[in-house]
Amino acid sequence: MRQPLVAGNWKMNGDQADASKLLDGILAGLAEVKSAELAVCPPFILIPAVASKLAGSAVKWGGQNLDIHNSGAYTGEVSGPMLKDFGCTYVIVGHSERRSYYGEGDNVVAMKFGAAQDNGLIPILCVGESLEERAENETESVIDRQLDEVIDAHGITAFANAVIAYEPVWAIGTGKTATPDMAQEVHAYIRRKLATLDAGVAAGIRLLYGGSMKPDNAAELIAQPDIDGGLIGGASLKAEDFLGIAKAAG
Ligand code: PEP
Repeated sequence: MRQPLVAGNWKMNGDQADASKLLDGILAGLAEVKSAELAVCPPFILIPAVASKLAGSAVKWGGQNLDIHNSGAYTGEVSGPMLKDFGCTYVIVGHSERRSYYGEGDNVVAMKFGAAQDNGLIPILCVGESLEERAENETESVIDRQLDEVIDAHGITAFANAVIAYEPVWAIGTGKTATPDMAQEVHAYIRRKLATLDAGVAAGIRLLYGGSMKPDNAAELIAQPDIDGGLIGGASLKAEDFLGIAKAAG
């Protein structure tokens, strides 16, 4: 039985006061969340404050990105050991905004996945196709390319301690959500693909959906057999919405 995971990607939003208010709201409603695990991924600079606020609670936290190196002359970067030092459990790697705005290719994403695991962090690996790629029927080949680079670099067993988020690029921040059937089809594809390499890993890994998930569409999406929760952008910035999704996840 896979425990649902609902992870919030705050992106580059909020100041200390916003973060504190948001976390107060989440913590106040936590008792109503039955089985889902919750995590938040704030901007780096807010992680220390988030860590002190969430320490001892059931809510975990993580980074939105990390560097491939552990330390050194890499101005502006944040490393895996630094995230670990501040108690992070998770780190998002390969988010489509990192891929498209910061030129992160599949090889860099694979290195970040490895850097996360080398430092005891659980990577949330984002994969997903653009609108054009979907129109060209390339969804599966895009997912293959994005996953194969990581599998080739780290082996299938690395996925025993990882999360995959299927995030169709056309659904991120657009208000357009994949229908439950569309999302399930791709999630099932990912699980089948992993199962050809290791059935146990495929059965155990949590596959999240991401892309305009909201309290009113979450239940139907997460009810799909291969969808084990959500990676939430916009709706993770409001405690009520984030909790609504978490409650819908069980
Ligand atoms: C995301 O960026 O990971 C995401 C899913 O964003 P949104 O929920 O806003 O579409």
